[in-house]
Amino acid sequence: MRDNDWSKILGWTGYAVYQHEIDENAKTLKLWVRRKRGNRRLICSGCGRRIGELADVTEREVRDLPCFEYRSTVVIELYRVRCPDCGLKIEKVDQLPSKAPFSKRFEEAVGEACESASARRVAVRFRLPESTVRAIDLRYLERWSAGRRKPALRQMGVDEIYLGKKMKFVTVVSNLETGEPLWFGRERRKETLDEFFRSQLSERQRGRIEVACVDMWKPFQLSIEDWAPGCKIVYDKFHILQHANQAVDEVRRAEFFRKGGALRELVKGKRWMLLTRWVNLCDSDKQMLNELFRINRKLLKAYLLKESLERLWNYIYEGAMLRYLQSWIDQLRWQRLEPFQKLAVMLLDHLDGILNYCRVKPPLGVVEAINGNIKTLVRRGRGYKNLRYLLLKAQRMAATKTEFVALRKAA
Ligand SMILES: [Zn+2]
Repeated sequence: MRDNDWSKILGWTGYAVYQHEIDENAKTLKLWVRRKRGNRRLICSGCGRRIGELADVTEREVRDLPCFEYRSTVVIELYRVRCPDCGLKIEKVDQLPSKAPFSKRFEEAVGEACESASARRVAVRFRLPESTVRAIDLRYLERWSAGRRKPALRQMGVDEIYLGKKMKFVTVVSNLETGEPLWFGRERRKETLDEFFRSQLSERQRGRIEVACVDMWKPFQLSIEDWAPGCKIVYDKFHILQHANQAVDEVRRAEFFRKGGALRELVKGKRWMLLTRWVNLCDSDKQMLNELFRINRKLLKAYLLKESLERLWNYIYEGAMLRYLQSWIDQLRWQRLEPFQKLAVMLLDHLDGILNYCRVKPPLGVVEAINGNIKTLVRRGRGYKNLRYLLLKAQRMAATKTEFVALRKAA
């Protein structure tokens, strides 16, 4: 085959193959390319300005997509330019997005593969070290992120997520309209959220936020009041039900420790069931829970209270919502369910933010879905040391809607 034919097959615009080498035993193909005669546009890779003159010539070898069974590399003739701003710099070439030894389309193939498989599996497939796959994926996502339009933030979600012993708590800010996470910050202090407002939004952008869905967590509330005073705070269903679940769990634990023997055995391993909604349980689970409830009335009561609290968000009128909450709290009387009494006090303390749901009606289930996606990513990726990488990954997931399992379940 002639070099001219290789140029066509390679398909790098503006470049021609002038030498090739095929190794049948190693199954490798190597192509040497240089600029076509008419291609004289030189661009500084530092600042992007056009440069008239080249300083010297150098060479770089990059891995490109395979050709049939042959692993392909391209040796490219590169120019260095003397830029008035950056000094001696390498020219910018579209097919070479970074300093790493890979072509742009090779990086894209790896990045796309990472969307549906773990870095470890992609590494095996492309015969690359796992750390290299992650680095390529990160660059792929950064390029995608830089090239897209970012919608305005009008409805924001703020949540904290626990990412294990090393990472501890991470604050997640998300856009509830697009269903994507916008920013991650370490820890969950007021200063954490302050940092988001300061570094990510202009004053005008902060003024445009209409509503923030948050947990009943004082530091976040204080930060929002400081930075976006016009925005309404909503304590949403997801967070409040999390607290209700915790109350059920506390009752379970108290009962578990108080009683011994048979009951202890019966309660064992039922934590997950108690925290699951009745409609999501299968028949055998329901039967097991019913047996447990027959013996322990307190657990039954706690479970019913949690289930009925959920109906609070069926009400679209403030007055009706308030009446329902009042009747829910009335049921606690004489029950001696300490954790639920504490929850009731908490709800009354945050009443305005609960009723705000009727006034603004932010979408339900989004914070929960984003949370679920992040946890899936972390589980699959076995730990992200780089928060930026995790954020981009979660954004891409939301944008391509590859995995909105939790949202579908909630809807
Ligand atoms: Zn420059």
